[in-house]
Amino acid sequence: MTNNLSPWQAALQQFQIAADKLGLEKDLRARYATTKRELTVHFPVRMDDGSLRVFTGYRVQHDTSRGPAKGGIRYAPDVTLDEVKALAMWMTWKCAVVDIPFGGGKGGVICDPTKMSLGEIERLTRRYASEIADWVGADGDIPAPDVGTNAQIMAWFVDTISVHHGRLERALVTGKPVLTGGSRGRVDATGRGVSICVAQAAKFLGMDLNGARAVVQGFGNVGSWSAHHLAKLGAKIIAVSDVSGALVNRNGIDIHALMEYASKNKNRIEGFREADRLDKEEILEVECDVLVPAAVENQIRADNAPRIKPKILAEGANGPTAPDADPILQANGVFLIPDVLANTGGVTVSYFEWVQGLQGFYWTEADVNARLTDVMVNAFDVVSATAQKHHVDMRVAANMVAIDRVVQTHKLRGLYP
Ligand code: GLU
Repeated sequence: MTNNLSPWQAALQQFQIAADKLGLEKDLRARYATTKRELTVHFPVRMDDGSLRVFTGYRVQHDTSRGPAKGGIRYAPDVTLDEVKALAMWMTWKCAVVDIPFGGGKGGVICDPTKMSLGEIERLTRRYASEIADWVGADGDIPAPDVGTNAQIMAWFVDTISVHHGRLERALVTGKPVLTGGSRGRVDATGRGVSICVAQAAKFLGMDLNGARAVVQGFGNVGSWSAHHLAKLGAKIIAVSDVSGALVNRNGIDIHALMEYASKNKNRIEGFREADRLDKEEILEVECDVLVPAAVENQIRADNAPRIKPKILAEGANGPTAPDADPILQANGVFLIPDVLANTGGVTVSYFEWVQGLQGFYWTEADVNARLTDVMVNAFDVVSATAQKHHVDMRVAANMVAIDRVVQTHKLRGLYP
């Protein structure tokens, strides 16, 4: 059994399966089965009690054939280089699936932002930004938010590097607040993208989303906005969870009220009264029509996959399903929308933000949303056509589309020297 694969091993396995289907040459496989660059930094931060603490951070670039490395920065206690490498590889495939001109990168700092003051987080961010400053740039490597980071952190990031460079670097980081050159529609873009994919899948399956029962694991940026947009499509959100616990209400949870509640409760859902409590380990097994894992990696594995049977499984998180769970889900007739397609709404609007920043010309929210819908519907259709043509599931199909685009670009550019 492959139950205990690390994220990087899981990403590699998914890559090899799609590479096999594409008949990709051995030499080229070796190139993509490794990263391009990995940077590890150790740096001190002054804590509020006057002490110095040394933190470790990473920035990894997996591939830059199609454009600058693109990908978020994660602040979490369990960040590892292995995980950041996997997340960077998934970013390469994501950008290629939606056909935006970026490669893949990712960053992370080992820290627990829930146990740090705002001042400590600001100092950590500014120092980490300085440490990786040589790698970052609008044409080289463009960070964004991820688990444990947000628009405010991106504003500090831009400010720090702009001060170093002596000019405002508008396109250096995405996911910034709108007031500092961010894009309208970026905050909810990943969740909106999840819902666009779910709507396309429902159409494909001839399923009515009105009244469909949806379950969302994770209530951070991706989970909460996915729930919000699915509810707007008519789905009934019957269960949600986060690190603090899980809630269930078969009549549907009022997502707007829960978002308000969480924002006043340290971003935690525990204690919300208009739902019953549920063991958070059970969330993925709640019977439903649409399931959105929107937390972290390795949640759906061979041991629990036999009990996870939604009609549609849309991966809001990166890497929530272990490779050994995929055949089980497929045998159970679950329609999978893989992470490299389902959660690309965020990076797609990051691309729009980068374009707007370079031009200094900002779009309306309606424009952003309409363009996002176009990009995602098109990507969904290309991936589902590939799945049908090659008789593979949507993950293999999405990876085939992505790898093929990256490899074609690589071949056109050639090898130098
Ligand atoms: N961290 C997000 C992701 O995993 C967004 C990346 C970006 O916008 O660059 O897709």
